[in-house]
Amino acid sequence: MFSQFALHERLLKAVAELKFVEPTPVQAAAIPLALQGRDLRVTAQTGSGKTAAFVLPILNRLMGPAQVRVDIRAVILLPTRELAQQTLKEFERFSQFTFIKSGLITGGEDFKVQAAMLRKVPDVLIGTPGRLLEQLNAGNLDLKKVEVLVLDEADRMLDMGFSEDVERLVGECPNREQTMLFSATTGGAGLRDMIAKVLKDPQHLQLNSVSELASGTRQQIITADHNVHKEQVLNWLLANETYQKAIIFTNTKAMADRLYGRLVAQEYKAFVLHGDKDQKDRKAAIDRLKQGGVKILVATDVAARGLDVDGLDMVINFDMPRSGDDYVHRVGRTGRAGAEGLAISLICHGDWNLMSSIERYLKQKFERRVIKEVKGTYGGPKKVKASGKAVGVKKKKTDAKSDKKKAVAKAPTRRKSANRPKPDALVSQDGLAPLKKRKTPAPAAE
Ligand code: AMP
Repeated sequence: MFSQFALHERLLKAVAELKFVEPTPVQAAAIPLALQGRDLRVTAQTGSGKTAAFVLPILNRLMGPAQVRVDIRAVILLPTRELAQQTLKEFERFSQFTFIKSGLITGGEDFKVQAAMLRKVPDVLIGTPGRLLEQLNAGNLDLKKVEVLVLDEADRMLDMGFSEDVERLVGECPNREQTMLFSATTGGAGLRDMIAKVLKDPQHLQLNSVSELASGTRQQIITADHNVHKEQVLNWLLANETYQKAIIFTNTKAMADRLYGRLVAQEYKAFVLHGDKDQKDRKAAIDRLKQGGVKILVATDVAARGLDVDGLDMVINFDMPRSGDDYVHRVGRTGRAGAEGLAISLICHGDWNLMSSIERYLKQKFERRVIKEVKGTYGGPKKVKASGKAVGVKKKKTDAKSDKKKAVAKAPTRRKSANRPKPDALVSQDGLAPLKKRKTPAPAAE
């Protein structure tokens, strides 16, 4: 029950109005600490209810006698425009019975209109780092009185190259009393560095979304012989599964475009989202998906970041994601707030070991599914190790010379090992690993 939290009655009224009954695990863990004013580092993904976990405590702090607004008192930084828009919406829903005003500053919007909004000084500013800095440089923004700073999806902000911008903005809030950093993954050295710089004695809450995935979403794998066969399986699934909306993930822009082309040719209402698409395309894709004009979205990881679409009940990993965290992130798009979801990963020979590493990471075994109509020849490795990975086929010894040659030829292959989840650092902004790092055969269209 939300009444367990020491929240202002007007906030509890908004929570009731929104029909939130039980706090999610991240809310239960973070809200009491945030209300105490603690710095927090929270590992939780989009879909976990993390927005309310920081929005409610911020609002609670800002509640009080109505006063003439003179300062921006809280700033929420996010990596993408859509995420910022969604957060603003959530903020407005929770603040509907208060006088607290929020403002949005993101790229792609009119600079002067934003400057006019800033002149009215909102209590809370929600935005992306690049445009906030531009407004700051233009002298339109004063963050000196900011009390609470939130860095949401901090890992992705770093991935997107916002590290310097974020640091600069953090430096513009020298009088802050509380900083909360949220990330979907545990992140790498860049994130650790940022945490050390911006948080003071933080409480680390690790809300592993893994168990959440297990509850609402069935997770299956279907083996396939090659990419063309994967396309046949995909067609079967789209034609035969029951779903309201589906998202298909690929690891490359080229594969996303290729699948999108195939779907459109079959007259599916589909959209494609990847790093080459501009903000207008992204907004159109998301709006049409939300309104139901589009049923299928083909996307790469970064493009789908922060997507929160009702009725998204099927996720298909055409390519296996490169890490367990990415898998959780993708599959977390479905089965939200207790709804049923289906996640299907298509697994070729080259995807097997990666898939089994992800199973181990999640501490669960995916359901093996065979579809008679599109069954291929590959059904998984003949033999697997205790780890679930394929047992390699030993080559017969011939003579010492050829053995030596083989050893030389084999070494770099082992180093490449694309079958192991890769740290985020290896993944480019579009989720596209450098080609030379990949062992899995590149998709035909690349
Ligand atoms: P978020 O992870 O903050 O993006 O939230 C994902 C979705 O879950 C949003 O649509 C929220 O409105 C919704 N949500 C958050 N907390 C709750 C809750 N306690 N009960 C029901 N829905 C929630």
